[in-house]
Amino acid sequence: MRYSRMFLPTGREVPSDAEVVSHQLMIRAGMIRKLTSGIYNYLPLGYRVVRKVEQIIREEMNRAGAQELFMPMVQPADLWRESGRWSLYGKELLRFRDRRDSECCLGPTHEEVITDIVRNEVKSYRQLPLNLYQIQIKFRDEIRPRFGVMRCREFAMKDAYSFDADEEGAEASYRKMFEAYERIFTRCGLRFRAVEADSGSIGGSFSHEFLVIADSGEDAMVFCERCGYAANLEKAEIARPEETPLDEGAFLPLEEVHTPEVRTIEEVCAFLSVRPQDVIKTLVFSADGKPAAVLIRGDEEVNEIKVKNFLGCDVLEMAMDDMIVQVAGSPRGFVGPIGISCPVYADYSVMNRLNMVAGANREDYHVKNVNFGRDFPKPVFADLRAVREGDSCPRCGKEIRFARGIEVGHVFKLGTKYSAPMKAHFLDRDGKERPMVMGCYGIGVGRTVAACIEQNHDRDGIIWPMSIAPYQVIVTPVNVNEAPLREAAEKVYEALAERGVEAILDDRDERAGVKFKDADLIGIPLRVTVGPKRLAEGKVEIRERRTGAVTVVEIDKAADELARMINEAMPVT
Ligand code: ATP
Ligand code: MG
Repeated sequence: MRYSRMFLPTGREVPSDAEVVSHQLMIRAGMIRKLTSGIYNYLPLGYRVVRKVEQIIREEMNRAGAQELFMPMVQPADLWRESGRWSLYGKELLRFRDRRDSECCLGPTHEEVITDIVRNEVKSYRQLPLNLYQIQIKFRDEIRPRFGVMRCREFAMKDAYSFDADEEGAEASYRKMFEAYERIFTRCGLRFRAVEADSGSIGGSFSHEFLVIADSGEDAMVFCERCGYAANLEKAEIARPEETPLDEGAFLPLEEVHTPEVRTIEEVCAFLSVRPQDVIKTLVFSADGKPAAVLIRGDEEVNEIKVKNFLGCDVLEMAMDDMIVQVAGSPRGFVGPIGISCPVYADYSVMNRLNMVAGANREDYHVKNVNFGRDFPKPVFADLRAVREGDSCPRCGKEIRFARGIEVGHVFKLGTKYSAPMKAHFLDRDGKERPMVMGCYGIGVGRTVAACIEQNHDRDGIIWPMSIAPYQVIVTPVNVNEAPLREAAEKVYEALAERGVEAILDDRDERAGVKFKDADLIGIPLRVTVGPKRLAEGKVEIRERRTGAVTVVEIDKAADELARMINEAMPVT
């Protein structure tokens, strides 16, 4: 492509809402333009990168045995009623009525539609397993669109759905997708980690997020350098500590103390001159409307996702005041484990602890020297707290580390969450009717492109990995008004075209400095400079964008050398 003819509006200006570097560079490099909040145009340069990422995704999905189809963006409300999500999905689901007054939505995801397709066509175990995917536009009315195409409202997603006859098959499908994802992100030139994520009521390690490691990422992860354990912060486990029998000889007498207006852990510590780790915090939750108390050490925080999964409820909320008074007989701030009239669960952090301080379940009172067994029945212990930096790895015990990342992909075992309510049934070997076991697998295409820029840029602009670069080479005659330079550049450009190399010929009548700046900004991996001094020797310079390394080659050998360098730079899987 001749630069002079390209629709490539580069510039220095960045909009004030562009907080992260990928957003700034995508604007400056003429890749995207905002249409309205959370909705973007891809300009030609940006769309070339999108297409390359899509192509890698397609190749790997096909290689893993998935088949591509294409589903509509507009979906009827009735399907969503069948799955139960019409009322559960929040405002991210854009609902509307058509001229016939039928309720519809714009698909934020396609579980309902794919389940409908498959239930209508698949009747026997012989037709399974099946994995179907599409690369399609999703609409999610995100509450706070930001970071450009990283968190927008309309975006392209690759979504795949697997259907299996049994758990074993579903797990094999899951593993296949997991491996395909590793290949996809490696081929895109990304440094990433697959981390265990919350799989809700399904349990087990059947949900992984693929996080591109970046400080600007919205997701927090923990990982262990020794054994490779990696998990989303919300899901990160804490190993069960060894339980030692409490030394009853050390139990001090239970003592009720008057603590007027002393409610928070801080206030309790100051008033009683104790440390937060000497206090039991008692939190009352409403789990599907039923009360449950969670005990945790005063210096720790509860992880509500763990509590929700542990209790196996659909909706978990902090209890309202009236529920607290009902179970504890006292207002918030004075709640404790002794005599509370609801199930009590305790985080591991309060195991093996003696003579603790707790609320007395009496307004304006706390109790000192609380001990399990003596003062109230030993509770069920579980992992209910949020992980902290410095905690031990749940697998091998080494100190875990924290990092941030951008979620570019997600693999998830669905089980029969959709197939059961939507009656996607088949006849098994024994002629018995059963629901199919499903999995779903998403990749955000635009977010992958943006995440790649977060990892691959410098002060001058983007540095594309060869595999997804919009063009691989830019040929730059330093002065187009000098015929020998112009002609030599044309020659290299044509030789590249013959070899199938995607190249730009910067034929603009601009100063060399301006051209170099643009080439760096848009991140083309290899630049060929055609200048008078080298040309006099029959040579040109090849400069690598990432390292700045320059090689001088004979003009007739330039195209072959470039083709070799391109080949060499492709990530291998
Ligand atoms: P997030 O937690 O970031 O909102 P999600 O859990 O809602 O993501 P999924 O429903 O698993 O995401 O969607 C699959 C993939 O689609 C994500 O891994 C991500 O790459 C992409 N994606 C999700 N929401 C957006 C968005 N608002 N803008 C761009 N890409 C998105
Ligand atoms: Mg989301």
